[in-house]
Amino acid sequence: MSSRARVLVLNSALGPLDYRVPHGMTVEPGSIVVAPLGPRQLVGVVWEPERMPSDAEVGDNRLRNLLGVADVAPLRPALRRLIEWTADYYLAPPAAVVRMALSSSAALEGSRTAIEYRATGLVPDRLTPQRAQALERIGDRQGMIRELATIADVSDGVIRGLVKAGAIEGVEVDVDSPFPLPDPGFAPPRLSPDQRAAAARLVADVDAAAYRTTLLDGVTGSGKTEVYFEAVAAALRAGRQVLVLLPEIALTEPFLKRFHDRFGCEPVAWHSGLRATQRRRAWRAIASGEARVTVGARSALFLPFATLGLIVVDEAHETSFKQEDGVHYHARDVAVMRGLFERCPVILASATPAIETRHQVALGNYAEVKLPGRYGAAELPTIEAIDLIEEPPERGRWISPRLVNAMRAALERQEQSLLFLNRRGYAPLTLCRTCGHRFQCPNCTAWMVEHRLTRRLACHHCGHIEPVPRLCPECQSEDSLVACGPGVERIADEVAVLFPEARVTVVTSDTIWSPAKAAEFVGRMEAGAIDIVVGTQLVTKGYHFPNLTLVGVIDADLGLDGGDLRAAERTFQQIRQVSGRAGRGEKPGHVFIQTHSPKAQVMRALVTGDAEAFYAAETEARQEAGAPPFGRYAAIIVSSEDQPAALEIARAIGRSAPRVEGMEVYGPAPAPLAMLRGRHRYRLLVHARRALDVQNVIRDWLGGLEWSTKVRVAVDVDPYSFL
Ligand code: ADP
Ligand code: ZN
Ligand code: ZN
Repeated sequence: MSSRARVLVLNSALGPLDYRVPHGMTVEPGSIVVAPLGPRQLVGVVWEPERMPSDAEVGDNRLRNLLGVADVAPLRPALRRLIEWTADYYLAPPAAVVRMALSSSAALEGSRTAIEYRATGLVPDRLTPQRAQALERIGDRQGMIRELATIADVSDGVIRGLVKAGAIEGVEVDVDSPFPLPDPGFAPPRLSPDQRAAAARLVADVDAAAYRTTLLDGVTGSGKTEVYFEAVAAALRAGRQVLVLLPEIALTEPFLKRFHDRFGCEPVAWHSGLRATQRRRAWRAIASGEARVTVGARSALFLPFATLGLIVVDEAHETSFKQEDGVHYHARDVAVMRGLFERCPVILASATPAIETRHQVALGNYAEVKLPGRYGAAELPTIEAIDLIEEPPERGRWISPRLVNAMRAALERQEQSLLFLNRRGYAPLTLCRTCGHRFQCPNCTAWMVEHRLTRRLACHHCGHIEPVPRLCPECQSEDSLVACGPGVERIADEVAVLFPEARVTVVTSDTIWSPAKAAEFVGRMEAGAIDIVVGTQLVTKGYHFPNLTLVGVIDADLGLDGGDLRAAERTFQQIRQVSGRAGRGEKPGHVFIQTHSPKAQVMRALVTGDAEAFYAAETEARQEAGAPPFGRYAAIIVSSEDQPAALEIARAIGRSAPRVEGMEVYGPAPAPLAMLRGRHRYRLLVHARRALDVQNVIRDWLGGLEWSTKVRVAVDVDPYSFL
């Protein structure tokens, strides 16, 4: 009799625990259960014991009873395999990954009903004007008393009176109202021959219902979205679910709109901005299979799809798919694994694929579908570099005369311009002109960034904010603070001085913090209510504004500072993406790139548009350095509020580094961000041959060490940040 169950409870500090299944309760692997732990009750998931060894085997007589089973379907094997793989690969506690799958606690409470009200058709004896108005406006609609009162523009009391009089009745409904069904035949586009060929390939994969990852590679504006929508339509026709991952929630809004145009209704959105009731409704609909298409940020990857038929990762090269806290996973790579376990195709769409992805294509592990040119009359924009040494901006300014002239010409043609600078706020550094004092964050090794719109100094690493003081805190001189360097707000000020008549908008995460704000911005752009946008990377992707014809990159060298291994690649991708915003309609686009090093290879590649040459050189450099995708890295980050404690553990880890052929360990060294959120940080970097099982080595290595709870040791496999 199997009255014993192994359970992964939602506590990352604990391994799997065994429980007794009481009489009358049935569980199977994947069942979501409530288990006692000391005096508390925890949610957990039943697992196959052979896949989740426990080092604390407890005798049958000492087992505690499970307390209950959630009224939802058990997590399916494909999702359980994904959870195991993620925990294993990223060296994370399985419970921490399970937590990402059980991302709505309200969803586990089972189905819930509520009473809604609707008209019965009966006319009450006493028909006051208000009652008549209510019945007329409500018509055949149904809702809570409050909702009906709002629709009818009467008080709740009037509605209640109508219920008493028998004119309105209550009906029991499921609180989770159903989602509309997207219609694959709603408004299919007429595809160009290239697009049709690409779509046919992707559709065939969906119909085959087997795993295959395909890179959908096409320049910005080539119609990648339209093409993968055909694969989405095929999955819908086959009765299967689709997951579309986007790198940022700001991109959700334009996506919802395009999806609506193509399929007649919105897909289910999944992101951190949802209210608990919305999360519950979405989670349950995804688990039941009723939610057909889900679009979301990386956390959507672990949702309990019932019958997944296609995964799309849009803007697949984006580094924001990498999660930098908790479980350090890369959503693009985990998406591929999910496709493998679910036996469904995965599409990675990008105009500037990551070198890692191109390498997988070269190895034959991924297929590739190309879209060669822009759709319709749209041409790729012309791109010029502006050498900031030869054509400098005027003193105290940041926009060079050639770009100013181009902006003036665009204004005269009543076309829109976009200035790109990947720096929020007014100035990245503020100092005192009298004593040289610099404003540093008290919690981080970082300068405070001045935000004039909110009149504050802010740390972009921990969120610490202070008012801008009138006196220098060091020498007490008055009004002596000077801003050094530009942020988007400062560029917007400069634009306002240059073109007082132009309507200027700043777009950053400070001004566009919600899908609604993004929608408002899109609306104003489309209505022509904005002439010039000054924005961070938030405006570099996804948007399609046909009247935007000029793009100016204020500081193309910015991303090359710091110089981590992907700096050139990221600069190339970012500037190609932002360039791709120009000239997407019938009017041609122009791009100006301000740089101090126009001869640098990445700048030359951007100007000539020769992506292949750039990729070839970059790939070769990576190969020579044994960097990804040819070798692999893993970072070990030791942090503590107690600096000596962090250093001691970092050193102990360094001293006990195993000697393994094909593996090198560097450090410990103070991290470039030596302090973050009040914690002192040290880093070690492991560099290994591709074939080496680094995870196993690190697991054994760290497993043999101990440290107190005030020290945190995080492992970042395939790191993207080296700070
Ligand atoms: P990408 O995702 O490659 O940047 P999009 O899918 O956004 O390209 O397409 C760019 C623009 O061209 C969009 O406005 C899109 O609606 C339009 N477009 C692309 N292909 C077609 C088509 N076959 N029919 C009509 N419009 C199209
Ligand atoms: Zn001073
Ligand atoms: Zn800080």
